[in-house]
Amino acid sequence: METPRLRATLDDLPAYVPGRPAVSASGAPAFKLSSNENPYPPLPSVLAVLSEAASGLNRYPDMACVRLTTAIAERFGVPPEHVATGTGGVSVIQQTVSATCDAGDEVVYPWRSFEAYPIITKIAGARSVQVPLTTDEHHDLDAMAEAITDRTRLVIVCNPNNPTGTLLRRAELDGFLRRVPASVLVLIDEAYREFARDPELPDGVELYRRYPNVAVLRTFSKAYGLAGLRVGYLIAGQRIAEAMRKTAVPFGVSQLAQDAAVASLRAEDELFERVEALVKERDRVLDGLRGQGWSVPTPQGNFVWLRLGARTDEFAAAARRAGVMVRPFSGEGVRISIGENEANDIILSVAAAFRS
Ligand SMILES: *Cc1c(COP(=O)(O)O)cnc(C)c1O
Repeated sequence: METPRLRATLDDLPAYVPGRPAVSASGAPAFKLSSNENPYPPLPSVLAVLSEAASGLNRYPDMACVRLTTAIAERFGVPPEHVATGTGGVSVIQQTVSATCDAGDEVVYPWRSFEAYPIITKIAGARSVQVPLTTDEHHDLDAMAEAITDRTRLVIVCNPNNPTGTLLRRAELDGFLRRVPASVLVLIDEAYREFARDPELPDGVELYRRYPNVAVLRTFSKAYGLAGLRVGYLIAGQRIAEAMRKTAVPFGVSQLAQDAAVASLRAEDELFERVEALVKERDRVLDGLRGQGWSVPTPQGNFVWLRLGARTDEFAAAARRAGVMVRPFSGEGVRISIGENEANDIILSVAAAFRS
């Protein structure tokens, strides 16, 4: 029987595997450490803004996100024309690929890295050039620079890298950017920057000021705890930011999301105390794992990475039995978000039992 024709490219699309929801029936997983979510609920001040905004849901949101754009511009000391928003960082990446790539153009990025990169690239009809991480789980910047060709339109740097948690330091990233042709856009994905504590942590906003071909991506989903509202943004030169506004879904960022994001920027002090607590928890988990003999790359995001190879699924199943969902990448490793202290404790005991 005839069926509607769909693009063949969808057939071999890597399926985005969302972190499965935690279910808390008897003995079933109750904690979700599989999607790098922030375990803290929204601040009361943010909830108040949301209930206010909810009364206007019969209206379309502000399409230009003026208040949010202005707030971001003020926060980072950049012109509002240099800011583009999107329905989450994922959408901002999609806007960036749409704005840079025609069919067959190349996107260079590290691998393993964020799962959305190959999916978005493929849907755009562009070609992924995946550059394997080094053996110590870092971006291979030399290989990435060498992978750039005449067809390369976009290079993505994920810093800290999801899922390995590793960080590129200022000097390394700077050296890399000097090697990228001025005609190629570099998107620095800083979804987890707020959790990084390395003294040599680069700042994408500072880099965008120095390199006209650099765009920096940030999101309200992780450190600001608004994953459910879908709002992220990009900071880049005017021409680039304007292109990202053109490729956005019109009215994509809801008024709830815009208002909550503005309120969250105002409440950064409070939110960053939570981030600090999560960083402490992360370091506690790290020390615990290393104390058990695990080799863990120093995590700079709100998650840890265990390269378990063939035992990846076995570990995920053990965690699940103990009540915690983690994110397995079959045959490679497990990414474990830092969540509630109780959940982190469960992970430590699962990990200890796994080694013995
Ligand atoms: C979570 C994440 C994002 C953004 O996610 P959104 O919820 O769409 O804002 C972007 N990049 C990486 C690497 C991420 O892990």
